[in-house]
Amino acid sequence: MNYKNNMKATLEDFKAFKAKSGSHSPSIEVLREELAINILVDACFLSNPYATDLFMDHFISEIIEKDRLRDMLEFYPPQNRDIASYISRAVGAPDQNIFIANGAIELIQAILHRFVNESLCVPIPTFSSYYEFVPPGITVHRYQLKPEENYALNLDDYTRYIQANNVRNAIIINPNNPDGGYNSREMIRKFIVDNSHLDSIIIDESFIHFAYEDDSLSMTSFEDSVLNYPNVILVKSMAKDFGVAGMRVGYGLMSEERVNLLLSNGFLWNSNGMAAYFLKLYSRPDFFQKYQIVRKKYIMNTMMFMNELSQLEGYQVLPTKANFLLVRSKHGLTSEDLMSKLLFEHGIYVRDCSDKIGLEAGFVRIASRRFEDNLLIIDALKQISANKCV
Ligand SMILES: *Cc1c(COP(=O)(O)O)cnc(C)c1O
Repeated sequence: MNYKNNMKATLEDFKAFKAKSGSHSPSIEVLREELAINILVDACFLSNPYATDLFMDHFISEIIEKDRLRDMLEFYPPQNRDIASYISRAVGAPDQNIFIANGAIELIQAILHRFVNESLCVPIPTFSSYYEFVPPGITVHRYQLKPEENYALNLDDYTRYIQANNVRNAIIINPNNPDGGYNSREMIRKFIVDNSHLDSIIIDESFIHFAYEDDSLSMTSFEDSVLNYPNVILVKSMAKDFGVAGMRVGYGLMSEERVNLLLSNGFLWNSNGMAAYFLKLYSRPDFFQKYQIVRKKYIMNTMMFMNELSQLEGYQVLPTKANFLLVRSKHGLTSEDLMSKLLFEHGIYVRDCSDKIGLEAGFVRIASRRFEDNLLIIDALKQISANKCV
């Protein structure tokens, strides 16, 4: 192993930093700058690095080299409705049903504050913002996903729970974060029909580009059907599938009335010029075609990675349809042990999930990265497990 651990930072320093970031992990920039931790592979952030490459190629040749960066900084970006019109064709929805967000997180907060009344049902474990951002006065029902079913969300059982507790709003994250559990389009459609009486059904498809239902890895998004159901709101982050989290870009699809309510409340220039450029690019058939190639390449890499990981000695690996997976040691290493061995001995940054509400102890979440980085992760896990046996 040629990883040089010449850093002064300790697990204690890391934990102090982590405490400052609340329920999210300290970014790799922060770790590098503040703790001088030498990170070889960031398997904490859940993105497709090949898509970032694709965006960079376009950004450099169309903006930087054409001297358009200054305009992007100097002038106001297009307004929310203008940007919505760029992506209308790509998402298959009229402009009036599209809300552009400064990252999905802005939309999640807006939905929870504007459209959710009385009570809300959230399957756990899940992305923490869905219960952390709920305003006071709303009852949050935490629907526990079952460890013995690998945290799969059984939508028929979820419906029974919602109806038995008379809950008014429900959330589905598909595929779910942190476990990668997935429900098919057909299951989602049935759930929506069964729950047409709810005020809102919020479907977060931030990882849907990594899921597939057929051998040709076609997209499985429910996007094209959402507007048939007036109580459904679709939430889409583009941070993970396009690998552009720093740009803050996401959108929502919902009834025209709801878009109007949000826009009458602000959000006029909530995207920056770079995000506006990206969404214009997203709607271009030539870019979209190239994106499909890197999306499929990444899914195939990820499948191989998962295959390898699930055959490793000494680990439990949960099945997933996203670009990350939950792993835990069978030899008694805690999630903190595993995270810190990977970070301090191998330079691989993964997410210790011990703070995830509703998840059993011991799991770290590992993202699939570039092919060669995935090999480093597999090798490190092999070494850790081998050292543990002797
Ligand atoms: C990361 C994440 C988001 C937030 O994405 P941004 O666009 O970066 O704000 C939303 N939902 C889920 C499930 C996520 O994992």
